[in-house]
Amino acid sequence: MTYSQKVLMRISRLGSLFFLFLLLASGLPALSQDSNSAAPPAVPDSATVSQAPGSSPPANPASFNEVVDRVIQREHVFLAQMRHMRPMVETYLQDLKSDSDGNSIPTKDQYFLGRLEMTEGPEDVSFVGRPGFGHRMLDKLTSVYSLKFLPLGFAQMVLLDTDFQKKYYKFTFVRREFLGEIRCLVIDVVPREGSGTGRFLGRMWVEDQDYNVVRFNGTYYPHPRTSYYLHFDSWRLNLQPGMWLPAYIYSEESDLKYRLGKALHYKAQTRLWGYDLKGLGKNEEFTQILVDSPQSVKDQSEAAADATPVVAQRMWERQAEDNAVDRLQKGGLVAPSGEVDKVLQTVVTNLLVTNNIDLQSDVHCRVLLTAPLESFTIGHTIVVSRGLLDVLPDEASLAMVLAHELSHIVLGHPFDTKLAFNDRLSFRDEESFQRLDFRRRAADEEAADTKAVELLKNSPYKDKLGTAGLFLKALELRAPALPNLIRPHLGNGVAAGKSVRMSTLLASAPQLEQRRTDQIAALPLGGRIKLDPWSDRVELAKAKPVPLISAREKMPFEVTPFFPYLTRFSTAGPDRVALTAPDRK
Ligand SMILES: [Zn+2]
Repeated sequence: MTYSQKVLMRISRLGSLFFLFLLLASGLPALSQDSNSAAPPAVPDSATVSQAPGSSPPANPASFNEVVDRVIQREHVFLAQMRHMRPMVETYLQDLKSDSDGNSIPTKDQYFLGRLEMTEGPEDVSFVGRPGFGHRMLDKLTSVYSLKFLPLGFAQMVLLDTDFQKKYYKFTFVRREFLGEIRCLVIDVVPREGSGTGRFLGRMWVEDQDYNVVRFNGTYYPHPRTSYYLHFDSWRLNLQPGMWLPAYIYSEESDLKYRLGKALHYKAQTRLWGYDLKGLGKNEEFTQILVDSPQSVKDQSEAAADATPVVAQRMWERQAEDNAVDRLQKGGLVAPSGEVDKVLQTVVTNLLVTNNIDLQSDVHCRVLLTAPLESFTIGHTIVVSRGLLDVLPDEASLAMVLAHELSHIVLGHPFDTKLAFNDRLSFRDEESFQRLDFRRRAADEEAADTKAVELLKNSPYKDKLGTAGLFLKALELRAPALPNLIRPHLGNGVAAGKSVRMSTLLASAPQLEQRRTDQIAALPLGGRIKLDPWSDRVELAKAKPVPLISAREKMPFEVTPFFPYLTRFSTAGPDRVALTAPDRK
């Protein structure tokens, strides 16, 4: 054993973090394969991998064994990086059962939104005021779900192993494979006997330049006597130079027996984003927002010297609007303004122009980054959730959603200006749903529905409202099984109880035919909007629609697996953002 190995081993008893930093600081090569703690190589050196170009120091590994050392070293670097991150984490889960055709359909759902804290292992801070799936909340979960989400729940699935060491595992080289543009080594990972519970069992994909894990697929093993581990497929994206950070986790079980006669049947998507939320570190949870945004300064200059009372009122409302939108963006809930907003604004402009409406100030559109289907207005800003944009089948149904919100603005429905006072914006991000409320009265909702139909009937969408109505029919059908998808957190839902929004459009819609593959009433979640988990920017997915083979592939409002197209980080532009599962229009 060399001197440096002895030092490393001694330091490692102080804690894995110190161990890691030493390794980084000294730039040492990974622990050599003959250190006494290391397991014998799972694959003979004949499985040697060729030298990868463009690799960073230390020198390229010469054998599979050295590759494994490098992977483990990189995984420890990853853990250290994650301890400084507080990404948003959202899990949406649908319980399934088989229908009369044997197809799986959702029967109920679960939603969790929080911020992941990794300082002492994965934990989460809940936004939605309900127990999360993380272990800290575990005691409070009800009996059924405590069985479902042991031990650390979905947040755990960002990690391969909190104590990833060679001696605990057998590694077997499988093949090389491309994931998107990234050439990967595919390696099977099996825990050794006696290495403790909860080790990773499955397969990992390792990019062949720096040997970062970019995907791992499997479960934890063996499970403790009283709990079970779920299966998952966990993906990381190259969001910054040298950083591959968790972005997507898909999990499903079709027949996990966990109690006499009870089996678990579900599918779930977990997304992470908000890695680059500046000023939201541990000591800066309280956010201050400036009164004078560039926008309101500009308004002031246009309004001559002194504002008339009417103009002052408008400026006051604009201040509250800007404050609220900024606060939501800073808290990781609203995307920075971008390309998708412009698409939405074009639809709004179509509605305004064809109805000869002049609002004297621009209407802005923004994207709420969460999955539940909701839309609302903050002053003259229309906010639509990512989940809602995902499931809308076409532009006419998008116009329907926007027409409703635009009607609130056109009708001058009241807007609570309490957010014009800055103190009201000082709260923890986790309190956002309690502190911010953009819900409308039932009477205003009804009036907006009526006005929206009027706007649509004068618009370029007037002959295409059949699909909009069809979407509402599909929503009406699925809503009872998916209360957490349709429950809004900030505004009004698109469906409430037994009634859906704009129900007059139902009457003119064609019959909903679930078995026809050419009638698409609503899309699965995740097909339309791409989210950059680092910057929170969104754009429209460029996936080409594919013809459906069977009605089973329609999957309205459902979650589907992730297959992001992996690329290396470049500063070229937003194109690096990965696509979710390919989808049709
Ligand atoms: Zn409304």
